[in-house]
Amino acid sequence: MVQEVIRKNKEYRFLINRFKIITMVLAFVLSVLLSSCAGPLAVDPVLEARTAIESADAAMGDWEGSWKLEDESDLGQMVTQVIALGKGKYRAKVLGEFDTREEPIAVLEGRRDGAVVRFTGPGRYEYTEFQIEAAIKDGQFSGSFTGDTVGSFALERVIRISPTLGEKPPKGAIILFNGKDFKEWKHTNKKEGEDEVKWELVDGAMRVKPGTGSIITRKQFTDVRLHVEFRTPFMPEARGQGRGNSGVYLQGRYEVQVLDSYGLEGEDNECGGIYKVGAPIVNMCAPPTQWQTYDIIFRAPRFDGAGNKVSEPTLTVVHNGVKVHEKTEARGPTTASLGGKATEPGGIYLQDHGNLVQYRNIWLVEL
Ligand code: MG
Repeated sequence: MVQEVIRKNKEYRFLINRFKIITMVLAFVLSVLLSSCAGPLAVDPVLEARTAIESADAAMGDWEGSWKLEDESDLGQMVTQVIALGKGKYRAKVLGEFDTREEPIAVLEGRRDGAVVRFTGPGRYEYTEFQIEAAIKDGQFSGSFTGDTVGSFALERVIRISPTLGEKPPKGAIILFNGKDFKEWKHTNKKEGEDEVKWELVDGAMRVKPGTGSIITRKQFTDVRLHVEFRTPFMPEARGQGRGNSGVYLQGRYEVQVLDSYGLEGEDNECGGIYKVGAPIVNMCAPPTQWQTYDIIFRAPRFDGAGNKVSEPTLTVVHNGVKVHEKTEARGPTTASLGGKATEPGGIYLQDHGNLVQYRNIWLVEL
């Protein structure tokens, strides 16, 4: 009887072990198959963004956590966007949540002090005023506040990725850039045969080569749904329109601005803005060096038989997964557009504004 049980146990263990071996072999084969099929976009996007941001500046970017009073009562969520300003200077915008136009709790000035970045400044929350002292140290943004209320906070780095990053072109889409060549593109204003694109190919992306000129698709379009991924360079000492400027133009005429305006107000000449036409509903700009997305639905202007305009062009812009324009009308061509007749189709045009902005995974669907 006992021997019978031992024998059965042995058989059982043999079956389990065989099952384990088969599972391991299958898992290995599957992982080899998957990695051989995967393109450059299969890189973990969170890891990709974290590596890019932290190798540019380990203090820069989004931080998320909570704050509490000195009696331990919870004040809820607190977030911070840290902007690198060069020469060891920083600015931290402290808020109750990301992606809002609500007044910040504080805008703190920061300075690097060895391995630590220290911040200080006044804060305000629900009719109370206080002074904040904070520091980024050992991968944490933490500090305290004293004044009408007294308490502390602790925030961890958070990487927020666009949900449409790496989105595959749907069936019937026109692929404008797949990371390999410029065959769908030409220089904006050179003669045929002399209109070769001089931008550079880097790691499956195209990068503006400053001074070589803007580029435009060889094909012309009217109504489209466009997907484009971009990232702005790390230029901590640059400001305003000189900081990671480029732009995506629809029909060669209407610019959705590309700019490093991470942590700023979200104006009509900043990232997510339709240049000098409309500000984004909220500023969705990610930190420089992180890949971002625009998903744009463009409807070209309409004309009657006599050539009179019957409706303005409209742009619906989704920036990093959030709708920042809903059918915003662009009455005329935006600044620095190619002009051209609004009655005719136009190319998708990417701007050389002198900065090393990158683009990848560009495709559109004609509507
Ligand atoms: Mg621009």
